[in-house]
Amino acid sequence: MEGKKCRCAAVVLAAGAGKRMHSEVKKQFLQIKEKPVVYYSLKVFEESFVDEVVLVTSGDDIELCRKEIVEAYHFTKVKNIVAGGKERYHSVAAGLACLQEMDYVFIHDAARPMLTQNILDRAYECVKETGACVVGMPVKDTIKIANADGYINQTPDRNLVWMIQTPQVFEYQLIKEAYDRLIACEEELKSKGRNITDDAMVVESLTKHAVKLVEGSYENIKITTPDDLSIAERFLENI
Ligand code: C5P
Repeated sequence: MEGKKCRCAAVVLAAGAGKRMHSEVKKQFLQIKEKPVVYYSLKVFEESFVDEVVLVTSGDDIELCRKEIVEAYHFTKVKNIVAGGKERYHSVAAGLACLQEMDYVFIHDAARPMLTQNILDRAYECVKETGACVVGMPVKDTIKIANADGYINQTPDRNLVWMIQTPQVFEYQLIKEAYDRLIACEEELKSKGRNITDDAMVVESLTKHAVKLVEGSYENIKITTPDDLSIAERFLENI
């Protein structure tokens, strides 16, 4: 793809219920510094090289997102707002279904407001070389794999363990085909008890394409519990 301008799309996921937040308002719509969590990553995509954005939300929130987020903040790159599904991977599939032929797709959790242009640039350089990459950071703590009884089963080499973030970035054809296959064999995967929690897993398990790790940042946290909101607020204060 060297030399030609690549077409890039982002799928921003905001269709989760956010049960661990124990709040009436879903976590992607809670306010940080007087703006909803989802505003922050949409703003970064709006100011980036990405050409268009699909915002995935629950069916009930489509109008709210259109008026109070996309129109209110003039996010002109958001071309579609679509309803997500029960699991995160259903929401990704719904977002991908809106896209025309693209070169690359950036899949991002709206619950990660600390996305930056530098993270996008690093992921873009990496996906152009490899076709598939996910943002993450090497772990600082020792990680243990437990057995079902809560005893330690394994201690992986810490130098090889990363915590995984978003965006996760892929060639359009690769991620489209991987998700088409996933939806086709969903029942089989469910019966094996496989829990699909990110996009790299879909590519790892349903294609032969290797997925490269690229550095995000330790600040690129996912808002999951009330504590995370105040941490994100503090990080955003320094921007
Ligand atoms: O649940 P989790 O924290 O892993 O969600 C990560 C992101 O995926 C969040 O931004 C959430 O809104 C989104 N999500 C979604 N559809 C679902 C579940 C989660 O868009 N069914």
